[in-house]
Amino acid sequence: MVTSAQLADWLRKAAAEIAAHRDELTALDAAIGDADHGVNMQRGFQAVLARLEASNPVEKDVGAICKEAGLALVSSVGGASGPLYGTFFLRLGGRLGTRNEVSAVELAAAFRAGLEGVRQRGKAEPGEKTMVDALHPAVEALESALSEGQLLRGALRAAEEAARRGTLDTIPLVARKGRASYLGERSRGHQDPGATSAHLVLKAAADALGQE
Ligand code: ADP
Ligand code: MG
Repeated sequence: MVTSAQLADWLRKAAAEIAAHRDELTALDAAIGDADHGVNMQRGFQAVLARLEASNPVEKDVGAICKEAGLALVSSVGGASGPLYGTFFLRLGGRLGTRNEVSAVELAAAFRAGLEGVRQRGKAEPGEKTMVDALHPAVEALESALSEGQLLRGALRAAEEAARRGTLDTIPLVARKGRASYLGERSRGHQDPGATSAHLVLKAAADALGQE
């Protein structure tokens, strides 16, 4: 089962991953965007941490932890990625609800809901060189690993691995959504910054939520 304390640990680890890779995310965005993705994400996850530490996360239900993260991201990140990550965590929270712990299958359903929220909000399909190219294969891998009987630890590792591959697979793609799409063919040959940050968030999930 996944508890509120573990979800809080996920968010802390995600914030640490983003901080450690801030310059890399910014450099990727400098190539095909406006060089603010690292700064945007770091500001967003610092706001998530501030909200998390303002009260005891263990006393909150699993849904509330994710919803607060979503609200912090929406209100602190100005770029396209803020509302999209905000939607991801808000949908996650909505799906997880007011319980104190959830099963692996419920967590996977929440990740699916988060992904669908991002797709509705950003109107991006897989293959359009966005964060969807990391999130979509990750959710598919998580679902299929669990349906094959894997434990959450292995299933989240498979999800992380799928996100990593999906991120690398954005390199040859032409961007069809967001700022990078203004470059057209010139966006080819660069790794998408948002897919890269989504992989980091999923890596943090595999590190924090994998204990049975
Ligand atoms: P901005 O583009 O406003 O500067 P960021 O630099 O923070 O915002 O984020 C850019 C990332 O957001 C892109 O690399 C891409 O992954 C993601 N993105 C942009 N538009 C969309 C969209 N419509 N759907 C999904 N993801 C998107
Ligand atoms: Mg940008």
